[in-house]
Amino acid sequence: MKKRVVIAGFGDTGLLVAINLGKDFDIVGIGPKPCLVSGQELGMRLTQPKAWKKDYLMPFSRYKQLRGVRTLQGLITAIDPRTTTVTVRLHDDSEQVEHYDALVISSGVTNGFWRNNVLENTDSINQNTDRASQQLLQAQLVAIIGGGATGASVAANLAARCPEKSVYFFFSEDQPLPGYHPKVRNSAEQHLLDAGVNLRPNHRAVIPDGFQCDRFTTEPIAFSSGQDDFNADITLWAVGKMTPNNDFIPADMLNDNGFVKTDPFLRVDGYDNVFAVGDIAASDPHRSSARNWGYRLLGHNIHAYLDGRNISMKRYESPRYRWGSIFGVQGDGLRVFQPEGSSFRFPNWTIRTLLFPLAVRTMIYKGIHKA
Ligand SMILES: Cc1cc2nc3c(=O)[nH]c(=O)nc-3n(C[C@H](O)[C@H](O)[C@H](O)COP(=O)(O)OP(=O)(O)OC[C@H]3O[C@@H](n4cnc5c(N)ncnc54)[C@H](O)[C@@H]3O)c2cc1C
Repeated sequence: MKKRVVIAGFGDTGLLVAINLGKDFDIVGIGPKPCLVSGQELGMRLTQPKAWKKDYLMPFSRYKQLRGVRTLQGLITAIDPRTTTVTVRLHDDSEQVEHYDALVISSGVTNGFWRNNVLENTDSINQNTDRASQQLLQAQLVAIIGGGATGASVAANLAARCPEKSVYFFFSEDQPLPGYHPKVRNSAEQHLLDAGVNLRPNHRAVIPDGFQCDRFTTEPIAFSSGQDDFNADITLWAVGKMTPNNDFIPADMLNDNGFVKTDPFLRVDGYDNVFAVGDIAASDPHRSSARNWGYRLLGHNIHAYLDGRNISMKRYESPRYRWGSIFGVQGDGLRVFQPEGSSFRFPNWTIRTLLFPLAVRTMIYKGIHKA
């Protein structure tokens, strides 16, 4: 009988772990959504929702390597390491228990309205995506708060797509993108200025009491850094106020901030048969195993563990600086910023002929069926 791998959280990285595990195991992917709802590219999601859905909202049945993988729509409510089981609450409120030989925790974080652990169907995901986009696109004067990749991506995409709007980008440091290489920060700052974004550095906005930053607001923004209040038609809060999706995870697996403690092999400290990856895993200071091929490493390490070859497990390595595309596809193509500060650009003609069909769909996802 095949050994069973349960993947707790079937978003960006959980899905890629399943794809990288191959056909030797009985794999069960569990999550509250009926399809992949990617956390990537919020700028594109809000400004071009139709185009975003083509690549980032994908039925599981389209992934060739998921043939044979059982997906279960539900929320895990408990992990019991003693009986090696997880309990799942399904959308009809019934409960199901699943046994595992190896467990992967990839439940991510709740962040704004674009990443959450809400049980929902495809219609409601589509409606919520369209509604958020319409709200933003109807406004004339837009404020975006929070200098990370999410805020920068929305500000740049909105200004480039809608030059008639006034886009103000507030962040608390001198430059956006903390955690990125200084050269990347300079280059991104210039890109935002060229796109017509009004940059407002050294502005620390006051988050209203009890507000979870999970919706747009229309009230004036106040700043604890001393500047006058700012009135925008609409404000997007991308301040990195994230809550780890950990309410089903035993307390001894978590660090003081609520993220899963992992060893250098992305195994949960103290548990040989439990692994963690993605935004929930405290793998490195940036918790960046989602974008540093942690899913590939787990494909290998889980194989090694279940075959009794612990000795051949590989160690997870992460660069000092964050990296990635930041702005997504722009008029001149897609620029990928590197950890050591350089960048390269895929020209526009390559995006639909090479990048997505070959690099993304074939190499990363190992094959996607046509819609
Ligand atoms: C191929 C790739 C490229 C990337 N490129 C970039 C880039 O260029 N720039 C950049 O900044 N970042 C990039 N990222 C990183 C990305 O922004 C996030 O880090 C990534 O989306 C996080 O993935 P995740 O699986 O941890 O979380 P999610 O995708 O949020 O998945 C977690 C899933 O678990 C579910 N869940 C939560 N609680 C439960 C529960 N109790 N039971 C069951 N399920 C639960 C959630 O609802 C969700 O579906 C990239 C990631 C990937 C995979």
